[in-house]
Formats: sequence, structure tokens, C-alpha cells
Amino acid sequence: MTEPVPLVILGAAGRMGRALIRGAQAEPDMRLVGAIERVDHGAIGQDAGLLAGSDPLGVAVTDNLALLPKRAIWIDFTNPDATRAHIAQAQGHAAGVVIGTTGLGGADDTAIRRLAELIPVLQAANFSLGITILQSVVERVAAALGPEADIEIVEMHHRAKRDAPSGTALALGQAAARGRGVRLEDVAERGRDGLDAVRREGAIGFASLRGGDVVGDHSVIFALAGERIELTHRAGDRDLFAIGALKAAHWIAGRAPGRYVLADLVG
Ligand code: NAD
Repeated sequence: MTEPVPLVILGAAGRMGRALIRGAQAEPDMRLVGAIERVDHGAIGQDAGLLAGSDPLGVAVTDNLALLPKRAIWIDFTNPDATRAHIAQAQGHAAGVVIGTTGLGGADDTAIRRLAELIPVLQAANFSLGITILQSVVERVAAALGPEADIEIVEMHHRAKRDAPSGTALALGQAAARGRGVRLEDVAERGRDGLDAVRREGAIGFASLRGGDVVGDHSVIFALAGERIELTHRAGDRDLFAIGALKAAHWIAGRAPGRYVLADLVG
């Protein structure tokens, strides 16, 4: 029998962190060896299993990455500042990193690429299988319809979400732009307001709705004269992302250094 993959969850007390701890507990081929929270968080010192609302694990939440066992796979669902710091610390410490944090920028991309020269790194704005498939469908529909179709992306998330548009909406926008053969940065319209807000020709528009406890809804609308195609994905449960991220952690364990995406895993 192979050894269980050792895991560290960063952002352990968060919505995703707790779902990941519960998920890891249910997987016999993975073992939680560390749970990280920010300095001064009330969860520091607590048992990670109890924090996640399940059985005790014998792993106390800490803010000290230096105390973690080396050669574990890190799963990071925190915020851009924290993930930036974790990427810098992962070198020589982690055996691989799964990044779920959204809202990272271009400079972070360079840091992630450098880290991926040393260890396997898998980053996804959305760890659901459905969104991975939707991205490839959107790319194909955008290519088939061509520039005649106006593309608008609408997303809705819970009231506490910080970044807008969501990382998933931007990933869907990237897929549509790829299908069109354009760069999203050149055509994105991120929110419209005012008396002169007419859509530009060839634009890919984004609208973000926030409220309640919505886990994540995304629609990509292709509007033509007289007809419309709407492709919608709704995430009903956060555990879905946790399951995807845990599968990704298992998959990168022992893999060669490199930068991976979820599509590598699901084919
Ligand atoms: P959350 O606010 O509930 O949790 C984030 C946690 O990170 C908090 O407990 C916070 O205290 C902790 N944290 C902050 N700084 C830290 C540090 N330096 N070290 C360790 N922990 C630190 O947020 P959430 O809903 O769990 O989402 C977290 C991130 O994951 C967001 O960027 C969100 O957009 C993203 N997300 C991605 C997916 C996906 O499938 N890729 C799905 C859901 C959420």
C-alpha cells in the first residue's frame, strides 16, 4: 500500500479551508499534517478537525509555516496577499502547491512560474469539473460564432466575496477570447455605468452580482441579432471545490516540477 499524501491547508479556518479539512479527513489516501491561519486568528491552537466541525485530528492550527513537516503538498485558499507570501515561502519547503485563491495579478504569475520550475504547481480559479468543461465549450462556441456574437459574462456570489469579477468569470472570458483569437485585456469591459456606456464592438462584458450565500453562478451569453445562446453553471455546494482541489493535490504529488491546470487532470 502506498503512503497517504501529506497535506497542509493554508486558510484553515476559512469557508474553503474547513471544507478541505473535512474532505481530507474522509480520504484514506491523504493525511492532514498542517493547518495554517493568519497571525492572531482565533483558531490558532485549535484542533483542525474540530475547527472544521468534525472529529479531532491531532493537528493544531498554527501561523508558523517553518514548523510544518517538509515535503507536504500545500493547498492555499486564502487571499492574494497571503498567497503571495506563501508562494515565496514554498520553495525548499513544499513538495507541491495547489492554488485556489482568486484575484492574483500579473506579477504573481511570474512568481508562480518560477516556483513551478522547482516543484509541481496547479492553479485553478474554479475546481469544479463542470466549469473546466464549460471553459472548453465556451472557447469552441466563441470560435464558431465569430465576432458577430456579443459576449457577456454574468456571475453571482455570496455577499462576502471580495474580488470582482470572479476569477472564474475571468477564466471564462479568457476562454472566449482564445476562441476569438483576441487578448482578453484588449476587449474586456468590466462593469458599465453612466450615460455613455454603450458596448464597444468586439467587447467581452462582465457583470458581477453579490448577495446572500450564493456559492457561485456563472453564465456566458452569446447574443446575436434575433437569437441568444446562454451557457450557465451553478455551484450548489462549496464541497465541490474542495473535492476538486484535493484530487488536484493527490494528482500533483510526486509529479515533475511544472505548471499544471485542472484540464491536465480531467483530460
Ligand atoms: P474566507 O475568507 O472564508 O477564508 C480565507 C481564510 O484565509 C480566512 O480564514 C483567513 O483568516 C485566512 N488567511 C488570511 N491570511 C492568511 C495567511 N497569511 N495565512 C493563512 N491564512 C490566512 O474565504 P473563502 O471563501 O474560503 O475563499 C478563499 C479564497 O479562495 C478566495 O480567494 C476565493 O475567491 C477563493 N475560492 C476559490 C475557489 C476555487 O475553486 N478556485 C472556490 C471558492 C473560493
